[in-house]
Amino acid sequence: MPGTELFGAEERKEIEDVLSTGIMFRYNHDAQRNNIWKAKDFENEVKKINGAKYALAVSNGSAAILAALAASGIGAGDEVICPPFTYIATIEAVLMLGALPVFAEIDETLCLSATGIKNAITTKTKAVCLVHMCGGNANMDEILKVVNEHKLILVEDAGQAFAASYKGTFTGLFGKAGAYSFDFFKIATAGEGGIFVTNDEKTYLLADSYCDHGHDHVGNNRGMENHPIIGFNYRISELHAAVGAAQTRKVPQIKASNLKHKKALQSILSKVEGVSFAKLGDENGDSGTFLNIMLPNTEIAKKVVDEFNKAGVSGFNYWFTNMYHFINQWEHIKNMQTASKLAIQVLGAPQDYKNLHLPKTQEVVGRLISFGIRCTWTEAEVNTLANKIADCIVKANKPVNA
Ligand SMILES: *Cc1c(COP(=O)(O)O)cnc(C)c1O
Repeated sequence: MPGTELFGAEERKEIEDVLSTGIMFRYNHDAQRNNIWKAKDFENEVKKINGAKYALAVSNGSAAILAALAASGIGAGDEVICPPFTYIATIEAVLMLGALPVFAEIDETLCLSATGIKNAITTKTKAVCLVHMCGGNANMDEILKVVNEHKLILVEDAGQAFAASYKGTFTGLFGKAGAYSFDFFKIATAGEGGIFVTNDEKTYLLADSYCDHGHDHVGNNRGMENHPIIGFNYRISELHAAVGAAQTRKVPQIKASNLKHKKALQSILSKVEGVSFAKLGDENGDSGTFLNIMLPNTEIAKKVVDEFNKAGVSGFNYWFTNMYHFINQWEHIKNMQTASKLAIQVLGAPQDYKNLHLPKTQEVVGRLISFGIRCTWTEAEVNTLANKIADCIVKANKPVNA
């Protein structure tokens, strides 16, 4: 959780600004707010980093992905190709809109592959919701080729890949709209917060209204304007946006130290037999938030996890069995357990979610162990960790009776 490691005076100062006026609402109150607009500041800081034409700060990353899908025109009955390895919010957003998730294969980039997408396309496919997992980036050239060939809408959930890029373009900006999360576990945090991004004015205006009950925010009296669409409330508070703005300013520094630590860890671990790393669509566009170790197979990866636990190594995720980021843990989706009826329960699911055939994804996630990189690690801490990891992998690779 790099951003949270650096919470300090800068964040407190931004919060103090808001407390000094008491205006915690992002709209109106022009006379009392003393020209303090933290949601706008947060949006501008994000735009400074990724060069997006439009950014909208919202209550969380899940709302940002929901808004990205909705503003891109995705709704009831539309098939949306999704990865089976993502934070559950991606799938929830598709379902909440009445759209139908179609699960496709990922590859060693930990993201949907072009082949995976191609094989999942049907006559009802409307969009691809691409997720840039574990701080990295997908193989965009190949993916864009398939998306364009089939005239699909591309929406990017870059929830955990803010500040990652591919050949000079930042994640979130390849398709119609994108989303970042600034929850407590991401490269930068607002406490709770998300950012919707797009380069398209119409898509931005739709999201802007969608996230605030349909208000079009034209003029300076929110509440007295027009309501072009039906929306809901996904607003961010000025207090959260204040923290988000301060944290986003620290992202270049966080990313630099993440990448330095990741390089050091990889240079030690690459010498260990059986170790490789997740691929990147573009090696130069990593945000460095995770060290993604690939073992030769699931069996060895599970043994390595056992060795980590015995040796007291912490800070890793074995997504295959432990985490809420993989379809093997989504029993409630397979059984369609809902609080109230969703469109998919009326329309019918496009796939039998209980019997999906995703061998490549099972293989990749089974082999993957990820360590969250801490930007405040010292060089000595990085070396100690690398050597501990290496020892455990060597032990796990030894034949049982040797
Ligand atoms: C964290 C995350 C989200 C959800 O973000 P919240 O801010 O926690 O709502 C969505 N998608 C991905 C890929 C994430 O990692």
